[in-house]
Amino acid sequence: MKKWVICFFVLLLLGYGYTKLKAGMNDLPNESGLHIEIRNTPDAVTQADDFKIKVSKEMIFQGDLLLVNKDHPVPDGLTPESDVVSLVRNPELIDGFGLLDNTILLSPRLVDKFRTMIKDAAQEGVVHFLISSGYRNEAQQEELHRTKGAKFALPAGYSEHNLGLSMDIGSSQAEMNRAPEGKWLKDHSWKYGFILRYPEDKTEVTGIQFEPWHFRYVGLPHSAIMREKNLVLEQYLDFLKEQKSVSTTIGEDNYEVFYYPVTENRMITVPTQGEYEISGNNQDGVIVTIRK
Ligand SMILES: [Zn+2]
Repeated sequence: MKKWVICFFVLLLLGYGYTKLKAGMNDLPNESGLHIEIRNTPDAVTQADDFKIKVSKEMIFQGDLLLVNKDHPVPDGLTPESDVVSLVRNPELIDGFGLLDNTILLSPRLVDKFRTMIKDAAQEGVVHFLISSGYRNEAQQEELHRTKGAKFALPAGYSEHNLGLSMDIGSSQAEMNRAPEGKWLKDHSWKYGFILRYPEDKTEVTGIQFEPWHFRYVGLPHSAIMREKNLVLEQYLDFLKEQKSVSTTIGEDNYEVFYYPVTENRMITVPTQGEYEISGNNQDGVIVTIRK
């Protein structure tokens, strides 16, 4: 009986979200199309036909949500260099943006997501994007740290650029804090899974000065929830740990996000419906993201 009442309210909420979304829908999700509902326990969505997957401790250290900062280095054994390519040597990847120099390395997967994003920017007349830095290996990071100083570059292994999921984006017209490219990315990048990693109002949390050029890929719905709740990655991962489960609707996609602590190899339950992705937090657990 009680279950049916809960189901009814869930349906009502979904219906409400859908109506709200329909009212203000365009090609891209917008603020009014984002609905966040917080649940306190992962068991709330467990159903009889769900299946179990094995999570091992190594999974804490893989995925798009890894936290890398002065306290959490890039995990040992992670090899982003196996995925990255030189953009200059792969000119078919360069589409709609310029390069600051010929040393830029990035994974084709990340470039693809970046290109999708700036294609939409171009439709609004924002077209002067430059990539000024992508993946940096340990030697490049060490060199930067030594020559530019600790304020500009973190030591090797502690920079997000060593993770392969970050890029520095500039404009050929002006500095990013004044350029239309910077403003556009600040307002829209969350729709494409990117976050402005070091915002002006979060320097005390990140320990890094405002960097209007540094964007990090975390994927949807994480970038949207972080934007909606004004959280940087450090805070978002803590938030997931506290809530254990968050669900949200973006555009036509419904997402469920779960945090599971991992101290030993264990089994976790995943719904059979929808696609799922698992990422570690580079600390103590994994985040399972399900899209329905
Ligand atoms: Zn950067």
